[in-house]
Amino acid sequence: MTEPSFHMTPDEFRRHGAEVVEWVARYMETVEEHPVLSPVAPGDIRASLPAHPPQRPEPFEDVLADIEALILPGVTHWQSPNWFAYFPANSSGPSVLGELLAAGLGVQGMLWATSPACTELETHVLDWMLELLGLPDRFRSDGPGGGVIEDSASSATLCALLAARRRGRDAGAELGDLVAYASAHTHSSLEKAARVAGLGADQVRVVAVDETYAMVPGALATLVAEDRAAGRVPFFCCATVGTTSSLAVDPVAALADVCVAAGVWIHVDGAMAGSAAVCSELRWVNDGLDRVDSYAVNPHKWLFTNFDCTCFWVADRGALLAALSILPEYLRNEASASGAVIDYRDWQVPLGRRFRALKLWFVIRHYGAEGLAHHVRRHVELARQFAAWVEADARFELAAPPRLGLVCLRHVGGDEVNQWLLDSINASGEQYLTHTRLDDRLVIRVSVGQTHTEERHVRALWDHLACLADAS
Ligand code: PLP
Repeated sequence: MTEPSFHMTPDEFRRHGAEVVEWVARYMETVEEHPVLSPVAPGDIRASLPAHPPQRPEPFEDVLADIEALILPGVTHWQSPNWFAYFPANSSGPSVLGELLAAGLGVQGMLWATSPACTELETHVLDWMLELLGLPDRFRSDGPGGGVIEDSASSATLCALLAARRRGRDAGAELGDLVAYASAHTHSSLEKAARVAGLGADQVRVVAVDETYAMVPGALATLVAEDRAAGRVPFFCCATVGTTSSLAVDPVAALADVCVAAGVWIHVDGAMAGSAAVCSELRWVNDGLDRVDSYAVNPHKWLFTNFDCTCFWVADRGALLAALSILPEYLRNEASASGAVIDYRDWQVPLGRRFRALKLWFVIRHYGAEGLAHHVRRHVELARQFAAWVEADARFELAAPPRLGLVCLRHVGGDEVNQWLLDSINASGEQYLTHTRLDDRLVIRVSVGQTHTEERHVRALWDHLACLADAS
């Protein structure tokens, strides 16, 4: 008698796998037909699901049918080319296929020994990324620095802050004396990282910004000097290339001057804007990075690689390892002990890690440097075109200097009109936009960067806004 098995056989997997790939391909072809922002009300999706899990196995066909019937209505379509909200979360065919393979291999790459290819491909692809983005050699893995794939830019900021905290503590500073610096436009993940690291709210100083919302180096220098004079220990500064609200660019080189002189770890968050460096003419986004301690960029935002994939580099991996490496007996192994390998568990907060490098490797090989630059450049051109339409229409004004793929605008009629415009666009399902506030005024953000956004989508958004403005 053979043992009963509930597992999916390789033949069943082959058949259902083909169905799922076909489903995803059809989704890619038809994604524009869905309302971009899901129209469901809170609780709708749960109410449509069975109250209890199935007792008996269900046919795979039924599960797949429920994706269409129960799940799709509650999906907000980040992969729609009519996505102009927040920043994009890119995906692409090669990325999805890399993800499928990573799941199929199912390796957990916490140590080099638990899957050497997982570690070595990651190291290699991160060195490739340096070349693709024109980043400084100080981040190369064959020197004292190196790169790793984190799940998110938030984790990268946290790891950088933990490394800096360790460096500060090793130099004799009390935890309560450490002071970090950011601006009011730094991403909120910095504040969260500070909390996780045990810093009080009064240990994060807010540095003034100029009229473009960029951090003022002189203001940083003044705060650092004041803190020093008061017996506190400046230890960390988070600069941003491309802030979330308005894509403001902090002057990294001048900030690095202040930080290097004061022994402050400077981390640069290039989550969205950093990808622009695949285009040689946009490499100004890298200015000053040759002197910073760490840098992060999100291919899962604007480099056609699906979430999660943040490239994070440090100039000196020693502080990171000192902060995050703990070696219990059960993880000891010959390769680690030899010192000849990287164990990426020491470069992140969790122990376990997925084979994320596969999807990035697939994306880089599929597009080549040429293809990546082509599509990023095209997004920037489309945003520029959109900004020109805004500038030429007296009913609207630019609310911040348009930069790369982001245009911040507002209707001159005030907050109420702008809120109505946003709500009307989003309720229509035709496009999805989000807002920010700059100088305490409501601002509409148009973020161009979804993998498949073309001129016709940007044109349709402008026509929609202009038509609504006529009615307002
Ligand atoms: N930094 C910046 C500048 C961002 O715009 C964002 C998200 O939009 C983040 C960090 C956080 O990104 P993640 O979701 O990868 O943590």
